[in-house]
Amino acid sequence: MQKSIERIAGDTDGISYEFPVFRFEGTDQAAPSAYLQAALHAGELPGVVAIDALMPMLTKAEAEGRLKGAITVVPWANPIGRAQYHFGEHQGRFHLGTRTNFNRGFPLLAAPDTALLPTHGTPDQQLKTRLLQLSLGHDIVLDLHCDDEGLAYLYIHTSLWPAMADCAAAMGVDAVVLWSEDSDGTFEGASIMPYQNVPADVARFDRRVATTVEYRGILDVDGAFASSDAEGLYRLFVARGVIADPALPAPGAFTGTVAPLENIDMMPAPRAGAILYDVKPGDRVAKGERLATIVHAPGEADGRTEVFAPQAGFILTRRSRRIIRAGEDLLKLVGDRKSADARSGTLED
Ligand SMILES: [Zn+2]
Repeated sequence: MQKSIERIAGDTDGISYEFPVFRFEGTDQAAPSAYLQAALHAGELPGVVAIDALMPMLTKAEAEGRLKGAITVVPWANPIGRAQYHFGEHQGRFHLGTRTNFNRGFPLLAAPDTALLPTHGTPDQQLKTRLLQLSLGHDIVLDLHCDDEGLAYLYIHTSLWPAMADCAAAMGVDAVVLWSEDSDGTFEGASIMPYQNVPADVARFDRRVATTVEYRGILDVDGAFASSDAEGLYRLFVARGVIADPALPAPGAFTGTVAPLENIDMMPAPRAGAILYDVKPGDRVAKGERLATIVHAPGEADGRTEVFAPQAGFILTRRSRRIIRAGEDLLKLVGDRKSADARSGTLED
């Protein structure tokens, strides 16, 4: 395993950003290769500690000659966001300099050719270019995130489903959300869209994996989850032939929920106030069941507004804070049918 340091120049003299990259070479050129990054949204750390738990497993496989495919690991993918503290609060989702979400604005290339990437830009754009230079060309690309409060789930492009069902089973996630259009340039979109219109021998959908992994909630940074998530990643690498481990059984069928993104109701808050939730992630709800009450005028008549489920489904996520503005989303309800909300269908990680 080799460690190197990447450097991104800041936009003023004297400022630059660094992050480490770990490369395992692999012994078999024909084996699938893998790229793994965490904390692109810089405050989302379940993936960082999962990588910390995974690295000794990779090192051991390498020492035993079982590491077949090349693996590139970027545990802290966003040194710019990692350094953003604003009045004591960490701000890792948007770049303060440009107000751009760190997981939007990635170039959606027409082909998996890094020569097509822009060479100039603001520091966050340079970071995005660098992450694509590091990741493009790998057969397996995993971007580890987390939600506010939530279950473990994957975003997967429809072109990779159900081919990736073994990955979802290996990782032991609760749900898979399928998407088909990315107009915003997520990292996942930039990792899979370049393969949509290229020859089959380049696209290699039989072995390609690209996913945004949502490792539960932002507070689920926990030693036990880190170990089980590392084991899930290891099982995926074994299932896909990156690592050889004959002792490990093949993953069974995926038994979690699979739903198109269009089925997700995000439930914008009708009023600003304090949220009293009736439901938590994992709960099954019926149509018309109360999801939450917003207390907007405490103690006054009509000071509370209730929010009801527009359709039957189950609760995937909810907010980690209990203050909300009007129009902000209260939760993600994975409905049994297509959502009536026109915003449904856009990638929201
Ligand atoms: Zn995220």
